[in-house]
Amino acid sequence: MAWDFSTDPEFQAQLDWMRDFVRKEIWPLETLAEALDHDRLKRAYAPLQDQVRARGLWAAHLPPELGGQGFGQVKLGLMHEILGSSPFAPNAFGNQAPDSGNSEILALAGTPEQKERWLEPLLAGDIHSAFSMTEPDTAGSDPTLLKTSAVLDGGDWVINGRKWFSSNASIADFLIVMAVTDPDARPHQRASMLIVPVDTPGVNILRDVPTMEHPWEEYGKLGGHAEILYEDVRVPAEALLGAQGAGFLIAQHRLYPGRIHHCMRWLGVSARAFDMLCEYSLTRYAHGSLLSEKETVQNWIADSAAQMQASRLMTLHAAWVMDTQGASAARKEISMIKFFGAQVLHDVIDRALQAHGALGYSTDMPLEAMYRYARAARFYDGPDEVHRASLARQILRGFEAPADGVPTQHVPTRRAAARARFAHLLEAVTSND
Ligand SMILES: Cc1cc2nc3c(=O)[nH]c(=O)nc-3n(C[C@H](O)[C@H](O)[C@H](O)COP(=O)(O)OP(=O)(O)OC[C@H]3O[C@@H](n4cnc5c(N)ncnc54)[C@H](O)[C@@H]3O)c2cc1C
Repeated sequence: MAWDFSTDPEFQAQLDWMRDFVRKEIWPLETLAEALDHDRLKRAYAPLQDQVRARGLWAAHLPPELGGQGFGQVKLGLMHEILGSSPFAPNAFGNQAPDSGNSEILALAGTPEQKERWLEPLLAGDIHSAFSMTEPDTAGSDPTLLKTSAVLDGGDWVINGRKWFSSNASIADFLIVMAVTDPDARPHQRASMLIVPVDTPGVNILRDVPTMEHPWEEYGKLGGHAEILYEDVRVPAEALLGAQGAGFLIAQHRLYPGRIHHCMRWLGVSARAFDMLCEYSLTRYAHGSLLSEKETVQNWIADSAAQMQASRLMTLHAAWVMDTQGASAARKEISMIKFFGAQVLHDVIDRALQAHGALGYSTDMPLEAMYRYARAARFYDGPDEVHRASLARQILRGFEAPADGVPTQHVPTRRAAARARFAHLLEAVTSND
């Protein structure tokens, strides 16, 4: 009977340590981080990162030969649920996006020289990276439309184009740029990945785009989303990461596990908002009773708990399918958790914020920041609409329209068939009358 929801005791001890560490060491840092520039924040992180290394949890997403733990997706998922409770936690564990995904790409497709130059310092936490794919002028949800080009010229690649939302690019040392290298190839074989050091002439980092999450103009901070103009950027042929035309194939390897980690991190955020909802409902008194005694608030608590549990089980199941049958076997499950998880995240935070009234809307509580963060989840990593459509297509492959156009469950048709099939029984029953 291989149907087991338990965590092995040794790993549970690690999870318990992580939960305690994140609450005691990382949550307090959140309240100070705004006042720290990137260098000071780095110094604040250093002793925390040492503790994580000592515990053997640094860069756990990577295989052991690269200094990681070789955890499968289920273990990583459980870990990300805890780290997700704070936007500052993944950086203390060496698995913050986009460095975590980029290190996976380098581990998967990099040459020994690329690994030595970029992957090793990235894993050591000495440098930062960015993934530069989305463009302001083409639909990010359909990357076959990418316009940024890389053309071979005298043995060098020359890159031209405009990107935006390249997260962390303004503090990065190198960029992984997705560019069209084979415009005449089949749509999913047109693009390649190139490693571009950020100080290469022609790399113009124009700004960190203000967003709902960071609405004020800032530059050069962890978590910024840069707009970049690539103007005749010349990199050597060895900058190609993986095979020419393999950009999408490599990107898929990065995105599948990444979606599981996102969904589990969203559950970490939801759980924190949920705790605030429950706590405040036992504190606030209005119209003759505590909020916790009002049916609407009880419904919010119950619905949130049920949604989070559903999302958690769905996500861990997707992780289990990936661990046991490989990433492509989990396509359906991953699409399902992406849009379902994004909705749960939104709903739980929304209810917690509503219960707090003006306090929830104010920056005196972290709920308003969570709410702004949560909104993007519905379209990054593939808009929900695209995942829904993809899931529906996969499900519909298991169906076909009835040849005669009559629904299989049509009751009069089934009744007529049943009468024909059981005619002898019906006859016996009637003859007894
Ligand atoms: C916080 C954040 C961080 C990001 N980090 C990075 C990064 O590091 N690197 C990077 O390259 N990009 C990054 N992105 C960009 C992200 O990948 C894109 O926003 C995403 O791929 C969607 O692309 P788009 O914004 O161009 O929207 P579009 O593709 O223009 O889509 C707009 C809307 O159209 C609708 N739509 C699209 N297709 C369909 C369809 N088939 N059916 C129905 N409706 C549809 C959806 O509602 C969708 O939201 C980040 C974005 C955010 C918000």
